[in-house]
Amino acid sequence: MAKLNRPPVIYSPTTIQDLLKIYHLNPDALIYAGGTGLLSGAEGDILHIRGSVINIAGVEELKKINRTDRYLELGASVPVSKVIDLGKSIVPEALYIALKQMGPPQIRNMATIGGNICRQANTMDIFPILHLHDCQVELRRFREYRSPRRFLKGSGSKWIPVSRLIDNDGKIIMESGEILTRIRIPNENWTFESYRKIDGPGSPLIFTALARLDKHILTDIRLSYSTVREKLIRNRDLEAEMIGRRVPFSGRDLTLLEGKLEAYFKGTGESSFTTARASALTIQFLEKISEPVDEGRV
Ligand SMILES: Cc1cc2nc3c(=O)[nH]c(=O)nc-3n(C[C@H](O)[C@H](O)[C@H](O)COP(=O)(O)OP(=O)(O)OC[C@H]3O[C@@H](n4cnc5c(N)ncnc54)[C@H](O)[C@@H]3O)c2cc1C
Repeated sequence: MAKLNRPPVIYSPTTIQDLLKIYHLNPDALIYAGGTGLLSGAEGDILHIRGSVINIAGVEELKKINRTDRYLELGASVPVSKVIDLGKSIVPEALYIALKQMGPPQIRNMATIGGNICRQANTMDIFPILHLHDCQVELRRFREYRSPRRFLKGSGSKWIPVSRLIDNDGKIIMESGEILTRIRIPNENWTFESYRKIDGPGSPLIFTALARLDKHILTDIRLSYSTVREKLIRNRDLEAEMIGRRVPFSGRDLTLLEGKLEAYFKGTGESSFTTARASALTIQFLEKISEPVDEGRV
């Protein structure tokens, strides 16, 4: 009984090595970044936390932002508001729009990018965007390397596509003692990006789309749909069918694509309401990319 009433032990490491070591020794500890996901309903009331908590807010390495010619790299503890401050010219448009819509400003100041990705609850607003942009995430855990001469201690690091972070049931897959440390977003030019989060009965629908045009030819297109049931719905066959086509799409083409999308959605088990919304958002996007654009953008 006495054990149950014991207050939680709170660790506040300041280096990544200390963080990984503490987590290694306390694999059941709760990682606390901004705390806003833990506060908001589905993950449980933070006031009822029992056991150890590792507050990662003091680990400077996790708050770094790095830019190269090839990618934008965000530390897992970079607050959402800091990413927005980088501006639309640096942050991909769809990500920028999603982050701007995320809760009130006070929440955006506390909420971290890593916390959003690792949240086990229903909403992972930025996950589909990171997936479409082919982002990579770094996972690290404490490792001890035995060598004949000495006993080396270090941290195991691996980079994986963000899509490999979730299993078929939409649950985050991380090994015991593993921490998300960095997110790499490739620098790519997309002619159009769209992010729409539509609330509706039961579940919001998140629609994310990227399209690249070259002289009115659609050279690449990626479309994703996320609901509470399905973290990611993507039909690569339909995307492949559109690539290489000239825009604007004819009315007949749009009707055909709409029919194929709806048939695909039926197979996912989503409601007819969600299917209709997904289909309407897709057609709106295809109509938008068919509109004349500035010379410089294409
Ligand atoms: C009023 C309000 C409005 C909100 N609106 C939105 C919204 O519109 N869209 C949205 O997506 N979310 C929303 N949220 C939820 C939340 O703010 C975000 O998901 C936020 O990005 C979570 O980040 P955090 O740093 O606060 O995570 P935390 O709450 O600290 O952590 C969330 C989860 O991730 C784990 N975790 C955190 N960092 C790491 C890491 N580096 N490695 C491994 N595990 C980690 C934690 O253990 C926990 O399970 C809202 C919350 C509130 C309170």
